[in-house]
Amino acid sequence: MTESVPSLKIVRDVASLRRRVQGLRSSNQMIALVPTMGALHAGHMALVERAKALADKVVVTIFVNPTQFGPDEDLAAYPRQESEDWTLLAAADVDVLYMPDALAMYPEHFQTEIRVSDVSQGLCGAHRAGHFDGVATVVAKLLLQASPDIALFGEKDFQQLTVIKRLVADLDIPVDIVGVPTVREDDGLALSSRNAYLTEEERAIAPILHRELTVVAIDIAEGADIKVCCARAVDTLLAAGFSAVDYVEAREALTLSSLMAHGPDARVLGAAQLGGARLIDNVPVP
Ligand code: AMP
Repeated sequence: MTESVPSLKIVRDVASLRRRVQGLRSSNQMIALVPTMGALHAGHMALVERAKALADKVVVTIFVNPTQFGPDEDLAAYPRQESEDWTLLAAADVDVLYMPDALAMYPEHFQTEIRVSDVSQGLCGAHRAGHFDGVATVVAKLLLQASPDIALFGEKDFQQLTVIKRLVADLDIPVDIVGVPTVREDDGLALSSRNAYLTEEERAIAPILHRELTVVAIDIAEGADIKVCCARAVDTLLAAGFSAVDYVEAREALTLSSLMAHGPDARVLGAAQLGGARLIDNVPVP
C-alpha cells in the first residue's frame, strides 16, 4: 500500500517500507531515519536537514506512539496535522514518509517491551511511568523496520537520546545515533509541538525555563553549590507562574548519573508544568 504526493513517497506498512528502503539501498545509498510524532516544526526540520547533509536518502516517520503516553497524559489531544507535515517534508525533499497506524505497529497479540534500566530512571522517568519503555520499544521497532545507517534525535529530549544510545549499544543494533542541538525561538523557548497548548500569557512565561537552566549552568561552571542553585531555579520557576516543577537537576551528560562537582560533559535538565503544557529543556554546563 503506497501513496504519493508530489515528490514524496508515503508508506503505511512495514512491508512497503522495507521494499522502499531496499530499493534505495540497492544503489548503495546511505540511509538516514528521522523518527517523529508529527506536528512538525523547525526543530524537526533541523533533524531532516542534518540527515540530508549526512546521508543520501532520508526516511521520516510520523507515529504518535500510544505506549509512551501515560493514562492521564495528552495522547488524544496531541496535535495531528498530517497534510501540513506532508507539505513540509515534500518541500524539504524527503525521500520516504512512513506513517503506520497503531495496529500496524502493535498488531493483535503484540507482547514485547524493551526497558533500558538505569538511564530511564529519574528525571522524566520518575514522573512519566513507563514512558521510556514505550520510547525504547517503538524506536527499536522503527530501527529494525527501516534498518537505516544513521538515525537522528534531538538533544531537546536529552534523556530520550541517552536511552536510545544505550539501547542501540546494548542490542548491537547496527546504526549510528546522531544527536542534533535544540532549535529555539528567539527568546530561548525550545520549539515543541506541545507549545501549541500555551495561552498567550503562558507563552510569555515559558522562556523562563531555558533562562533559569542557563543561570544554573553558568553558576555551576563558576563553582556554585549544585543543589543550592537547582533549588533556587525551582523557586524562581514557581514564582514566575509554572504550576509545578518536576525537576531541575545537573547530570553527567553521558550516563545521566548525578553530578557531584563541575566537570566536562555536564548538563542541566529541567521539566515544569505551565498551564496545559509540560515543558522540558536542558543546556550544557559551559
Ligand atoms: P517529537 O515529534 O516531539 O517526538 O520529536 C521528534 C524528534 O524531534 C525527537 O528526536 C526530538 O528530540 C526532536 N525535536 C523536537 N523538538 C526539537 C527542537 N526544538 N530542536 C531539535 N530537535 C527537536
